Order: sequence, then structure tokens, then C-alpha cells
Amino acid sequence: MPLPSLIHALRWPDRLTNLVLPASCALCGERCAGQLCDTCMALHLADHAERCPRCAIGLAGVGSACGRCIAAPPAFDATCAATDYRPPVDWLVQRLKFGAQLPLAAAFANALRERLRAHLAGGCDIVMPVPLSADRLAARGFNQAMEIARPLARALGLPLDGTACARVRETAPQSMLALADRQGNMRGAFAVLDRAAVSGRQILVIDDVMTTGHTLDALAACLKRHGAKRVVNGVFARTPLR
Ligand SMILES: [Zn+2]
Ligand SMILES: [Zn+2]
Repeated sequence: MPLPSLIHALRWPDRLTNLVLPASCALCGERCAGQLCDTCMALHLADHAERCPRCAIGLAGVGSACGRCIAAPPAFDATCAATDYRPPVDWLVQRLKFGAQLPLAAAFANALRERLRAHLAGGCDIVMPVPLSADRLAARGFNQAMEIARPLARALGLPLDGTACARVRETAPQSMLALADRQGNMRGAFAVLDRAAVSGRQILVIDDVMTTGHTLDALAACLKRHGAKRVVNGVFARTPLR
């Protein structure tokens, strides 16, 4: 077994691994310049799925919105996803979120950047991470959406705004709820604190994972109520249809 694979198989703490392997791919352990090697990027993050332009769910056909978006259009105008939320992408996301592997966020931003260009052809004024509540931010120590949004905004040459909108109501984690309960769970979760920053703006909202879309729908509805002209979501991973 090559040394990097052996070290990863031993599941050493990352700090220890980084000392032995200063730069290695988070998935396969091979030496590379970034967080993920080119082979793993091509294998696991190359996304050729046709997606609904509105909610980014994978579709068999091309071009038009999915049945759900046609029947009940969400408050956001479009969604761009870099890849599907499936192994080993789910593991990478967990490493960022619960393992505090913050450098992974730059790799996620990188995977999103090129795909986003087409979605932003009509213009974009600000990049906004989905806010975490103050309590959850204090508990986790960082907002994974902000960690992705920061390098992405820099690469796109767009201003980042992490303060115009806040999560004002703590909600049960969406993953703990039945699908039918998730929409109601998000009602009143967000508030715009700076209307001037939002009104008349085209906003790119960033999140790590989109599952049902209820969180992003609630945020977009809140932004639209305060005059946002257009809301486009940029999510690293999209849960496929079940
Ligand atoms: Zn790799
Ligand atoms: Zn859709």
C-alpha cells in the first residue's frame, strides 16, 4: 500500500497527517497541490447530469424545469449545483461541516465556479452565504456556506455580503424531520437586516448542500419580500431524487 493510502487508512488526526504529507488529496491521499487531486476531481466532481434549471435536480431530459418546479415554483429563480450529494461527495461535505476541514471549502468553491458563469450571465451584484443562527455559529465556530462563498466571491470578482440577512429563528435540523414537515420548519427563519443591500439586487446565494430546497426557498422568499430582483442559488452538492 502506498504511504499516503496507508496513513489515510490508519485514520490519523488530520494535523498529524498534514505533517507527514504536507499536501495530499482528501479522497485518495495522493500528493497534490490542492485539497483534491485532478483524478478525484474528474472522477467524483465531474458532473454531466442534466439538471432542472430552477432547482438543479438531476433530470433525464434536457432544457425544461422539473415537474415539481412547474407545479409549485420556488421563490428562487435558478440553481446551479457542482455535483450530486452521493458517496464520496457526502463524506467530503461531512469532513468540512463536522470535521472542520475548512480548506475543503476552497475546493468546493472551485468546483462551483466554472458552472456558475452561465447562470450569472445576466449579472450578479452580491454573493450571500446562507446564514447560520448565532447559536449554531457559536457552537460550530464557522459557517460552512461562508467558507465556500468567500473564495468563490473572490474568484468571481463579486462583493461578499454575510450581514444583510440573518437566521433569526433556530430551526430543527432539516435532516431530523420528515419531508412533509421541512417546509413549515423554515417559516420565519430568516430576516433581512439591511434592505438597501438587498433591494433591486441580483443575489447569488451559496450553500454546501441542497436537499429539499425548503431552506433556500425560505431565504429567497425573504430576500424577494425585501425587493431582491433575482436570486440564484449556488450549491456544491444536490441530493438526487429518491
Ligand atoms: Zn485524489
Ligand atoms: Zn426543479
